[in-house]
Formats: sequence, structure tokens, C-alpha cells
Amino acid sequence: MFKKIKISVLVFLFSSGISLFANVNHNNSACQTNGFSGHYSFDDNPLKNKSLTKKGFTDNAWKWVNKLIKTINIQQGKNNTLLTLYKAQMEKNDLSHKKMKKIRNKIADLLSRNIIFEQIKFEISVLAASDQIYNVIEDALLNATRIVGFADGTAYGYTLFNVETQMIDIKIPTLDNQLALFAHELKHAYQFETGAVSFGIENVKCNPLYDQNDELEAYKRGALFGGEKMSAKQISQDNIYRKLPKEPLDATNYLLMSKNLDDCHCLQKISNKFNCVFRINGFTFIPIDSKI
Ligand SMILES: [Zn+2]
Repeated sequence: MFKKIKISVLVFLFSSGISLFANVNHNNSACQTNGFSGHYSFDDNPLKNKSLTKKGFTDNAWKWVNKLIKTINIQQGKNNTLLTLYKAQMEKNDLSHKKMKKIRNKIADLLSRNIIFEQIKFEISVLAASDQIYNVIEDALLNATRIVGFADGTAYGYTLFNVETQMIDIKIPTLDNQLALFAHELKHAYQFETGAVSFGIENVKCNPLYDQNDELEAYKRGALFGGEKMSAKQISQDNIYRKLPKEPLDATNYLLMSKNLDDCHCLQKISNKFNCVFRINGFTFIPIDSKI
């Protein structure tokens, strides 16, 4: 989850948002009858009804979510203006074959960007509807180091499970490219919500669902908002990330979990054994003092 970003890099990249358990299951009878805390919260339009519920995002998280949505809307507006322009050029039918091909590629590019932006909005709506609370904390310790007032180093963001509050805390710096770091970490939040990533309580070694693909997705997301771009190869060679599994791991293909997705007691034991937090079918499993 640890994310670093170089201040000077401005890159746009596309991401394909593939998700698991996108539809939160609110009626997991196995978990409810076995005494696990239930999770209920789904507004028809959580983006509009945020003031009616304290679920999903804290007020500070909403502040950052709204900044992200505002930025997306501005970018989509610009993309749509360009799309109208390019389509009008195409309709004139007086362009060379080469020019037509170029414009066609530009249109495809803009459409794919808009699809990704819609995917981000969808992910936000899933998180907003969750009864897992997501929080954002701005922390000056994560700022880039400075020389005579100018950033000259690396700013950081990370996401973790807060044992005290039982919230997912997204931590970002108080300066530098906060929105890109937030977008990167919000992707990890969505990965957590959908069973694609887990959070280790004590250290990353006990974090069975965290893999290089989780970082690749998050870097792609951050890069859309001016964050650092990292390819799969760069991630596999990074000092920290190279230690993570290469293959995408999530609740549906991690053997111990995938065979027991409907067994809350078994999932709880897995959480205890690995000392990690994960969320499956709308239930957050937090380790408790018991042995598998
Ligand atoms: Zn990350």
C-alpha cells in the first residue's frame, strides 16, 4: 500500500478497472447467523445522499472524494468538447486517409479515458455504499523534503486498517500532489472493499492478498491525476514491491479463501492466522485472539 511519488512527474495513463464483488452482498446469512456484525447501507445514489449517512466515507474522506469527482468532471467536459470537434472533422469527409486514422485514434483515446473516469465514479459509489468506513488523514510527515521551501524529494501516501477506530485510513501528505496520491490510495480502498487486497495488521509479510498487480492498478490510477507512472516491469524491480507476489491474488483465487467464501468461521480463522484484515461479501474480517 505504501506509495511514493516524485514531485516533478506528470503523466497520464489509462487503467482498466476490473473488480470483484462489485455488488456488495447485504444478506450474507451465514455471517449473520454466526454472529458476525452485519453491514447495511445502500443509498440509490450515495453521491447525492452523502449527508444522510455516516457510512462509507468520513467527512474528510468526502472532501477528497468530491475534489476527485470535480477534477474528473472537468476533464470529462474537456474530453467531450474535443470529441465533438473531432467528430465534426470526421463528418466533413474531406480528410486524407492518414489524417482520418489519426483522428479516429484520438477519438478512441478520449472515449477510453471517459470510460475510466466513469469506472472511478462507480468505484466511489461502491465505497460510499459500504458500511466499512473509509477515512482520509493528511499528514505533514508524508510531505516531500524541502530545500529553502521547494520540494526536493518524495511525497508519500499509504492506506491501512486502523485497529482503534476500525476504519480504513487513507494517509496523504499536506502538500505536493495530494490528489494523485489520494487517487492511488482510493484504488487500494476499492481493492479492499472488493476482496482484491488485504491489510496486514503488523507487517506486509502477513498480507496474503497484496500483490504487484494491486500496485500496478493503483499507479495507473494515480497517474491519471498527475501521479508517478510505474510499469509492471518497474514495479517488479522496485525495492519494496518486488517482494510482493507477481500474480494477482484475491479472495477468489487465493486457495485457502476461495474454497471457503461462504464460511464466515473459516474466513475468520484465516484472518486470525495471517493477522490480516480483509473484506468479503460485505463483511470485514478482523483478526481476533484465536488459533486456526
Ligand atoms: Zn500503492
